[in-house]
Amino acid sequence: MDNNKESWAQQIRECRACGSTDWQNVVSLGQVPLANGFLEQGLSYEDEPRFPLAVVSCRDCRLLSLTHVVDPAVLFREYLYVTSPSDTMRRHMRRVADLCEERFGIPAGSLVVEMGSNTGEQLAAFQDDRMRVLGVDPARALAAVATERGVPTLPDFFSATSGERIREEHGPARLVLGRHVFAHIDDIADVAAGVRRLLRSDGVFAIEVPYALDMLERNEFDTIYHEHLSYFMVDTLATFFARHGLRVVDVEHLGVHGGSILVFVGHQDGPWPTRPVVDQMREKEQRAGLHEDAMYTGFAQTVEETRHTLTRLVGELRAEGRTIAGYGAPAKGNTLLTTCGLSNDQVEFCTDTTELKQGKVLPGTHVPVRSPAYGEEHPPDYYLLLAWNYSEEILRKERDYLESGGRFIVPIPRPRVVTARSAN
Ligand SMILES: [Zn+2]
Repeated sequence: MDNNKESWAQQIRECRACGSTDWQNVVSLGQVPLANGFLEQGLSYEDEPRFPLAVVSCRDCRLLSLTHVVDPAVLFREYLYVTSPSDTMRRHMRRVADLCEERFGIPAGSLVVEMGSNTGEQLAAFQDDRMRVLGVDPARALAAVATERGVPTLPDFFSATSGERIREEHGPARLVLGRHVFAHIDDIADVAAGVRRLLRSDGVFAIEVPYALDMLERNEFDTIYHEHLSYFMVDTLATFFARHGLRVVDVEHLGVHGGSILVFVGHQDGPWPTRPVVDQMREKEQRAGLHEDAMYTGFAQTVEETRHTLTRLVGELRAEGRTIAGYGAPAKGNTLLTTCGLSNDQVEFCTDTTELKQGKVLPGTHVPVRSPAYGEEHPPDYYLLLAWNYSEEILRKERDYLESGGRFIVPIPRPRVVTARSAN
């Protein structure tokens, strides 16, 4: 890796989905550190790298994209996002496996390959159904953990080359899965080529990505961070895959991660009919203003208002002497805290169940991360709910905290305070 930080981020030159250079500027969130760049406590933070965080919309295919791509070697070198073991997530993974198997009649013994497979939690659900599984993940430590637990995993990026090699060694795949990984990839054309080579003629590529229309309509601007290079609409994906000999055949709109879509893609001339929901969603996107600049300027305005409201609320509470801590230390929480200009002066600590994060400090704001047990011993007056996508589960779990007078600030879609009474 080059030590010159200027070379760590490249400005994009063209749309990665269609090659156009006709951009609309959407939001610019300033110079922001990496959302997963947790730091050791007590170090000097002067050298912490920051990169421009701004989103543009391609006027031709309406892919939403970051203006700068940070070198994956920098971005993923110490990746701490270990698949959350929460019940919600486990149920979700079970549901993903069922959806794929039922809709496309995948029999036991089929080869299922997952890119960005993390610790193998999702593939384990397919193993329960007696599928042959293979994970592909560039984070060596995670690949080793997965292999150790019995989910064989290649420590590699998925590409045209690795897709070809997997087919040679394991045969063609009945299902290729990419959960919350497709939006992280710069060269999506290379991945599409790899998928085309690896899939059987009746094979299916299932990708789960945050749904850009939900992000725009629900003001989920904190899901913008350097790992998320692209924000997809169904319309954009359908156009993109058609250019690569593939066809979007089905879509399922899911509730997790603040609204995501599970998009099923087959070979262009494959046996799966295109289900009506694909065109219905594309039409809905067009009615919402997909191809008009106004939708994106409206989003930018809401983002500005939210940043202002939250900063003011936190400022007022601190002036009254109230204590505030973060609940959860997800990557998106760092976008929220940094772009609202909050720091350790306002937010005392953050609790998180991920042990790898505990004892470190958040990037940018340098708020220390503590265990949930620490939070129970030092309850703040207010918890800022950074993991708002789990808000239902968390508010239920934190009944006692609320009953004893604790309050939550739920920042998204619009900042609001939740008390024991309003949580009922
Ligand atoms: Zn484009």
